[in-house]
Amino acid sequence: MADKYDVIVIGAGPAGYVAAIRCAQLGLKVACVEKWINKNDKPALGGTCLNVGCIPSKALLESSEKFEESCHHMGEHGISVKNVDIDVSTMIARKDKIVSELTGGIEQLFKANGIDWLQGRGRILPEKQVEVTAQDGKAATYAADNIIIATGSVPFDLPATPLHKDIVVDSEGALNWTSVPKRLLVIGAGVIGLELGSVWRRLGAEVIILEAQDTFLSMADQRIAKDAQRQFAAQGLDIRLSARVTSSEIKNGKVVVKYQDKDGDQEETVDRMIVAVGRRAYTENLCSDDVGLGFDERGLVHVNDYCETNVPGIYAVGDVVRGPMLAHKGSEEGVMVAERIAGEHAHLNYDAIPSVIYTIPEIAWVGQTEEQLKSAGVNYNVGSFPFAASGRAKAMGQAAGMVRVLADADTDRVLGVHICGPAASELIGQAVIVMEFEGTSEDIARTVFSHPTLSEAVHEAALSASNRAIHIANRKRN
Ligand code: FAD
Ligand code: NAD
Repeated sequence: MADKYDVIVIGAGPAGYVAAIRCAQLGLKVACVEKWINKNDKPALGGTCLNVGCIPSKALLESSEKFEESCHHMGEHGISVKNVDIDVSTMIARKDKIVSELTGGIEQLFKANGIDWLQGRGRILPEKQVEVTAQDGKAATYAADNIIIATGSVPFDLPATPLHKDIVVDSEGALNWTSVPKRLLVIGAGVIGLELGSVWRRLGAEVIILEAQDTFLSMADQRIAKDAQRQFAAQGLDIRLSARVTSSEIKNGKVVVKYQDKDGDQEETVDRMIVAVGRRAYTENLCSDDVGLGFDERGLVHVNDYCETNVPGIYAVGDVVRGPMLAHKGSEEGVMVAERIAGEHAHLNYDAIPSVIYTIPEIAWVGQTEEQLKSAGVNYNVGSFPFAASGRAKAMGQAAGMVRVLADADTDRVLGVHICGPAASELIGQAVIVMEFEGTSEDIARTVFSHPTLSEAVHEAALSASNRAIHIANRKRN
């Protein structure tokens, strides 16, 4: 038997590595098992988020946004930019450099916190032992008082549209193309479909997105979703709803995609395709049967509000358990579990976890949508403010979109904030803090915001919830 630890974390994505660091800060002896091998065949920490998710996608969104701005939006400032071109390989190399700096940073943090990185695949055995099998096949067994499962998620496959080389790819493949496809089809108008569809459209691809549902962004406030949908259409993203893909095949190097919509059978021939139809918990060969770990019907590790599994001393956090598959949700679960293992009384407010889609417009929200409040029979007030009436948004040339504040009609407590427009990803943080403090729309209305800032739109939306916005006619507030 090898070393014994207070805690062994399996998986070093944002849920697992944060849990490991917080455990170490609290004086616990920690090891983290991670099997990730990056595209240069090197072991890497950071999981999906750092290697093939949040960070690389945001790097490409940034590059492609700069390209589009240079091509189309500089003239209105009187700036002429001629012969704009993009070297896609350089863009990908920049993205790879950011990824390797950040994953290397986690390695340094592990060293600084005295965390042992056990390289290889972890498997839970009875009596809280973990077998770690290295890439060369050598196995070692470690024991722990506590185990934190943070094995994350992987993309769903669509059996009707199998991946094919670099022509039909999942999100990971679409982060590594070194040329721009002429025609690109994306299956799924979810977060990945919109973000990666935007990247390649900005770089010059004609992009079609097929979405099975008849509602665009059904998880978002529908007023915001409709506004965003209009803006995407104006950019040229061809989003087709109620479109269910039935098959795809490769013919002469192209992808022939068959799908059904309200008008019957349809077909498109494209140069490349991204399959982005959601992700599933990754638990393959995670534990031996005699551990008795419980799973739910969707294959997620079953946990309570404190991320405790049915096996005492075994916890699970991040994408592998219920709740939104978001990096910050997993990280905060990791902190909560570490602190509870150390005897503290941590908890996580699942009602105030923000969601962001990093397109233009950015779409961000926290709390409940108007549709959810309606169906729950809650009596609420709506305040809204368009960026068209924001001096700062106009100066930036990004005056489309709006902020919506939903507040309880009786208590005025903020129940949801929904934003579509510039810097929504940052503005939503203000709403999260208000909701975390159980604040009211009056609290936002009484707060002083700098002028001219985009934050003033949040302020005005809160004022509008009680019909006293200054820079719009209040009867038009919805
Ligand atoms: P993961 O990050 O998936 O990490 C799990 C780790 O466990 C992996 O490194 C894996 O190798 C390891 N592992 C699994 N099994 C074993 C085993 N048996 N032994 C050893 N190691 C194992 N979320 C956001 O909040 N914001 C975003 O902007 C965002 N953008 C995204 C963009 C894309 C393209 C994708 C695909 C996802 C994005 N996400 C985003 C989602 C985010 O990446 C995930 O929610 C997050 O990574 C989940 O963290 P996790 O630690 O639970 O799992
Ligand atoms: P998603 O659940 O956001 O979207 C998948 C979409 O595909 C859905 O709209 C679904 O209706 C559609 N779909 C499913 N089957 C289909 C079919 N056969 N034909 C056509 N459409 C179909 O999933 P995703 O975009 O793959 O992202 C996976 C996860 O990663 C999400 O849970 C998300 O939270 C996370 N993520 C987050 C960010 C972010 O925070 N900015 C970015 C990327 C990914």
